[in-house]
Amino acid sequence: MSVGEPLQHVIAQIEAAADRLQLSESTRKRLRACDRTLIVSVPTLMDDGRLHVFTGYRVQHNNTLGPNKGGVRYHPGVTLDEITGLAMLMTWKCALLGLPYGGAKGGIPCDPHAMSEGELERMTRRYTSEIFLIIGPDLDVPAPDMGTDERVMAWMMDTYSMQRGVTVPGVVTGKPILLGGSLGRREATGRGVYYVAVEAAKLVGMSLEGARVAIQGFGAVGRTVAQQLRKEGCRIVGVTGSLGGRVQGDGLDIDRLVSHVAGGGRLEECPIGEAITNDELLELPCDILMPAAVGGQITERNADRVRARILAEGANGPTTPAADAILHQRGVLVLPDILANAGGVTVSYFEWVQDLQFYFWTEREINQRLREIMSQAFQRVRATAEHEQVDLRTAAMMLALKRLADGQRLRGLYP
Ligand code: NAD
Repeated sequence: MSVGEPLQHVIAQIEAAADRLQLSESTRKRLRACDRTLIVSVPTLMDDGRLHVFTGYRVQHNNTLGPNKGGVRYHPGVTLDEITGLAMLMTWKCALLGLPYGGAKGGIPCDPHAMSEGELERMTRRYTSEIFLIIGPDLDVPAPDMGTDERVMAWMMDTYSMQRGVTVPGVVTGKPILLGGSLGRREATGRGVYYVAVEAAKLVGMSLEGARVAIQGFGAVGRTVAQQLRKEGCRIVGVTGSLGGRVQGDGLDIDRLVSHVAGGGRLEECPIGEAITNDELLELPCDILMPAAVGGQITERNADRVRARILAEGANGPTTPAADAILHQRGVLVLPDILANAGGVTVSYFEWVQDLQFYFWTEREINQRLREIMSQAFQRVRATAEHEQVDLRTAAMMLALKRLADGQRLRGLYP
């Protein structure tokens, strides 16, 4: 959500669902407000001996249903507005999936690809100690997001544990397996998008065999979805990263693209298919379009040129409300972010449960439980959309807001 007005877009989604639910103004006021926003300075020694002071954010939106949960984003476009909107999305996502969490998000405006490993580690450790007081297994549990990975989670876990004087694996999820991470977590978001896409294809009567898929973003999420859908017989006709990518009408060789990128090559320079820009990818003729990078990509400027039948939101906030209305009117089935990409937080929840019990499950158990939870959530959203005659996003938001509003009513207002 680094383009446009991200927070306003999330609030517009809340209002649309709150209107349908006829929520009172006092309930809406509480849902629109964040519990806590922390802005910290992150002084970091760079490799050339200079000191750089980064700015770090951690926003906790609403902990009515449990401890806060949400990723940490390292990207040059990070703003407080964006992090706040993403924290809210986490609250709705957890409520929709029935996970016992509230929503949070953190981030640092920086370019992790232009930093050395040492610089990243020092920045991460200082950021973790600056937010130390408001994170913890029963308080707020960070996880990876754009620009962060298992390595960053290991540094966060270690910094927190050193300050507490005990090893606390449950303080973050998305850690290396050796340190209490969960099997299947790395692929969970992409796998979740895939499970929901399978349900959506059934709903519109689309066969996945031979279906054309275009994916924006070839990171943790985009890569896994591409591999899963390829196995299912889909043709991945285009993929892009931040500087563009490759296109091939009869399907790209995804394994080759993955090894090219894993070997340090640039996606847009891989010698298969032809070059394509990000803007062109969004307008490719395809059956399924998957934005799996940054937010604000489908707007009123390009929504009428989207040629997909299903738009599956792997990314958070890729579609603006104005674009949503255009897509709905044009009959494009939009699988909203809070449903489509909820696989990551669901397996993060499994990881946290395993850490708290110091007892670990098999990958088969994890994938089965993930598929069950994602498919059931899809069916709940579909049934609500049909019953209320609304689009899937409004239906998903209605289910989430209802749980939140009920939770707030049962807990009452302190003091
Ligand atoms: P990642 O850092 O692994 O990959 C990001 C990808 O996006 C890269 O291919 C990068 O080149 C591309 N990208 C960056 N800026 C871009 C731009 N301006 N235009 C086009 N492409 C751009 O990140 P990820 O973990 O795969 O996350 C991708 C999206 O999925 C984000 O919106 C994130 O919030 C969302 N998400 C991730 C998870 C998770 O578990 N990782 C969970 C839920 C949602």
